[in-house]
Amino acid sequence: MTEDKKNYGDNTKLMHLGRDPDEYYGVMNPPVVRATTIEYKDLETYETKKGQKFTYANIGHPLSDHFETAMAELEGGYKAVSSSTGLAPITASLMAFLKAGDHLLMCDSIYPPTRYVCEGLLKRFGVEVEYYDAGLGADIEKLIKDNTAVIYLESPGSATFEVQDVPAIAKVAKEKNVITIIDNTWSGGLFFKPLEHGVNISLGAATKYIGGHADVNLGYAVADNAANYKKLKKTHIDMGMCPGSEELYLALRGLRTMKIRMEQSAKSALEIAKWLQTREEVQRVYHVALSDHPGHEIWKRDFTGGNGLLSILLQEDYPKEKVSAFIDALELFPIGSSWGGYMSLLQPQTEMGYRKAVPWKEKGALLRLHVGLEDTEDLIADLDQAFKKLA
Ligand SMILES: *Cc1c(COP(=O)(O)O)cnc(C)c1O
Repeated sequence: MTEDKKNYGDNTKLMHLGRDPDEYYGVMNPPVVRATTIEYKDLETYETKKGQKFTYANIGHPLSDHFETAMAELEGGYKAVSSSTGLAPITASLMAFLKAGDHLLMCDSIYPPTRYVCEGLLKRFGVEVEYYDAGLGADIEKLIKDNTAVIYLESPGSATFEVQDVPAIAKVAKEKNVITIIDNTWSGGLFFKPLEHGVNISLGAATKYIGGHADVNLGYAVADNAANYKKLKKTHIDMGMCPGSEELYLALRGLRTMKIRMEQSAKSALEIAKWLQTREEVQRVYHVALSDHPGHEIWKRDFTGGNGLLSILLQEDYPKEKVSAFIDALELFPIGSSWGGYMSLLQPQTEMGYRKAVPWKEKGALLRLHVGLEDTEDLIADLDQAFKKLA
């Protein structure tokens, strides 16, 4: 988008990101590109790459370029890479900025597969991993050592949605020459702009709200400057992480409606969260837009919108059979991983025992709900009928 259009609102911007009809005879959406080989016009071009925008499709082609341009613009960064899953940019950015002997500060409330990357891959390659409390702000300075190379953040965290003081952490990291990487999946790259707060790499799973229809695995990472982009892109190429064309197309399409979908899910989720707080079956509700949620004030300060995620901790005295009966009685919340699609989902959180910096001590089943685009009153009625199974 040209400079004079930068003041448009989010929805207007989302309609224009990553499009260039002039390149396709006026066709509004950039078409699916099926490519491996890119042809060169002569030997000199092949040898010098001068004037050759693309060289081989797993390094980039017109459609990946449209999506990456869209994400770099949305996140306000220098350039982006795109990849076959949401996990791929996590692995790529950790591998790009860490080497054997380095110390990594990893947020304790991260997405569990990120923890598997740390415990398996990174430890096997000699990286020292230390988990930190998501509640730490500027005090993270005390954990930085001479060999600390990366601080990794995810805000709000997975399962219980701890909100991190990203600006405070990024500031300390900059002073200490430590690279910061954040998983920004929760905000869709839309409601929070980590790079504006000094974070170096902001990445996400387009699998969630960007794709938005439970049919795409896709990831991206945006770098803040040319040097960091170069490092990231090199590792990304080395690991062969290029995305599929269909997925890129669907993600670009999903971007257009992302904000209205997220707003609807967020509005419905807050209503449901407040209703759940009144239920005697529920010990605690975790949802960032509730005023008593830890980090709620930081979320209000740094984010411009919410989403449909919330978790509930059931009372501790329900036996497993009753919890199962409750879950199985739900008609509008099928059990499923992932979130950010059009439909509501439930996922039991069974991996809380992995937390190290802040061990999980709660008793009672922790269930994550994703509130989709159904009518709110139907979702509440469904939860209400299923709760009877706990009686
Ligand atoms: C889902 C998710 C990912 C990974 O996306 P996949 O496409 O499933 O690999 C990464 N980070 C977060 C926070 C996620 O929720």
